Amino acid sequence: MSATKTAKKNDDSSATGNEGTKPNIAFIGLGNMGAPMAENLLKAGYTLSVFDLSDAATQRLQQAGARVADSPKAAAADAQVVISMLPAGKHVHSVYLGKDGSDAADGAATSGLLSDLPKGTLVIDSSTIAAEDARVVADAATKLGVDFLDAPVSGGTGGAIAGSLTFIVGGSAEAFAKAEPILAIMGKNVFHAGDHGAGQVAKICNNMLLGILMAGTAEAISLGVKNGLDPKVLSDIMLQSSGRNWTLEVYNPYPQVMDNVPSSNGYQGGFMSKLMQKDLNLAMKNAQDTEVDTPMGAKAAELYNEHAVEYGDKDFSSIMARHDRSVLPT
Ligand code: NAD
Repeated sequence: MSATKTAKKNDDSSATGNEGTKPNIAFIGLGNMGAPMAENLLKAGYTLSVFDLSDAATQRLQQAGARVADSPKAAAADAQVVISMLPAGKHVHSVYLGKDGSDAADGAATSGLLSDLPKGTLVIDSSTIAAEDARVVADAATKLGVDFLDAPVSGGTGGAIAGSLTFIVGGSAEAFAKAEPILAIMGKNVFHAGDHGAGQVAKICNNMLLGILMAGTAEAISLGVKNGLDPKVLSDIMLQSSGRNWTLEVYNPYPQVMDNVPSSNGYQGGFMSKLMQKDLNLAMKNAQDTEVDTPMGAKAAELYNEHAVEYGDKDFSSIMARHDRSVLPT
């Protein structure tokens, strides 16, 4: 599997290949990630039609200058590009294939959005879902003459706001080339991981490691705090030592060690524990199917499966509460 990487650039060329004209974009799913990603496209001068099941979510984008549609189909009516940022595979199947996705049994006849899109439309799904689910949508899209890319992201809500996400893309080289200028608005790094599903495989490898790192970092801070260390002092020490990792750099799980992270805001927003739970279980399912031994991933999945029962809607750094319940807001 090859991976090509493109660094951020300012490129006005159209995703449909007409140099100088920006395609109209339909954006579906305006949650913690989708809303700031869509806002960055608006700021870059793209015309956006948006749809979300939540009125609060669409109002935010309306205020930022988007046209609010009352269905995915209405959002895509005048769009050459569709982007989605939905919670899980079942939502992606429901939007693109209809109902639970079972309408796509023959791979083409769908009652979802795909069947309403003109041939040549580019669909970019940035949700984190199973590679197999992405391939089912890609197959249905291909049969309808629609270009589909799985393009999950890394970088968290901070990266979505800053336009510095990493996009990890699976699909054809032609579709990737059309998507690149748009992804470069929302991200700093754009990787072509391989064919359909490859983006999702790379993403779950990354998130399995992230789950392990977050659980391990919380555990290490807890050990230090229980032994009388100041969590900020300990974090600073580990940041300059061999335990350094992304969670210590930008997403410390202990309250008030860092500003502007979920742990300093009652673990609100960010990346919900139930989404990390989903990703770890996707990784474990893949590991089982491909007979890969992943004991650390299995432990992280076990921890998040337990944690999400009570704290599913809290940011995934709230795994800190497993060790120290006083970190939670009263
Ligand atoms: P979220 O729950 O905040 O947002 C999802 C949005 O989708 C919600 O606004 C919801 O109303 C909307 N939605 C659900 N079903 C819909 C439907 N059928 N039609 C239209 N809208 C629908 O989730 P998020 O944190 O934005 O994450 C989205 C995806 O990105 C997930 O797959 C997640 O795993 C992935 N991700 C999240 C982060 C993060 O830090 N939050 C980072 C990387 C990847």
